[in-house]
Amino acid sequence: MRRLAEGLRGQGRVAFVPTMGYLHAGHRSLLEWGRANADRLVASIFVNPAQFGPAEDLARYPRDFDRDRVMCEAAGVDALFVPASADIYRPGHQTWVEVENLSRGLCGRFRPGHFRGVATVVLKLLNIVRPHLAVFGLKDYQQYLIIRRLVADLDLDVEVVGRPIVREDDGLAMSSRNSYLGPEERLQARVLSRALAEAQRQVDAGERDARGLSGKLTELIAAEAPMVRVDYLALCDPATLDEVAGLGAETLLAVAAWVGKTRLIDNALLRVAPAGAA
Ligand code: AMP
Repeated sequence: MRRLAEGLRGQGRVAFVPTMGYLHAGHRSLLEWGRANADRLVASIFVNPAQFGPAEDLARYPRDFDRDRVMCEAAGVDALFVPASADIYRPGHQTWVEVENLSRGLCGRFRPGHFRGVATVVLKLLNIVRPHLAVFGLKDYQQYLIIRRLVADLDLDVEVVGRPIVREDDGLAMSSRNSYLGPEERLQARVLSRALAEAQRQVDAGERDARGLSGKLTELIAAEAPMVRVDYLALCDPATLDEVAGLGAETLLAVAAWVGKTRLIDNALLRVAPAGAA
């Protein structure tokens, strides 16, 4: 891969889209952005064991390499990197990357070690592929901030790009894990994006108190979707991820919830319209 990447760098600017495969339209939007904004496009598929906890879904994470390859070809990917676990974590591996503060809250609290696994594998992939641009989805907002921090703190020579969340027609954020959902779970999962939309309506109607707002949203979820169990629903500063007491110009609303045995995440940037705006 490194030899191939070196050749691609000689042909122009290289964009890189790392994924765990089982690709969907969210991944496709990242590939299309890379295709349109760089000369060469590299994607990777690697279900990174280091970012799964011992009780998590590593073994059953969905995989369909043939379909993924077709999607990558259709999206104009020049090189698809699909390393084996044993190639990434070789015998004696003992170096881990910890992005401290940003990894503590939200998913970090519920998935200990997860972001250390993410930061480590992303650094390794960036070192192997050496792209000019690395493209990530804002669906994983905390991951995106952590990677930006990692790149800045370790002086990596790559531009990190964050792209908007792609959703199903009914609002559910696209995720490889949506394939786990049974029909009734799939219906109830819509409540997450509905709660995000309701939050913006509440803000537009004048709500500024974080606790009040999160209480209303938690109630809405419980009332509309009894199969959904919230891990967290948090209003945060979108740069630091620190929880806020009151809503400022921009506040990140991040949610993680179990729908049956499937853990889903979603988020939205809530905006307070400037005074005087229509
Ligand atoms: P994953 O395969 O889930 O690790 O995701 C690979 C990349 O695709 C990450 O940068 C994700 O944030 C991004 N991604 C996943 N789902 C979506 C989505 N619904 N919209 C936009 N980007 C996404």
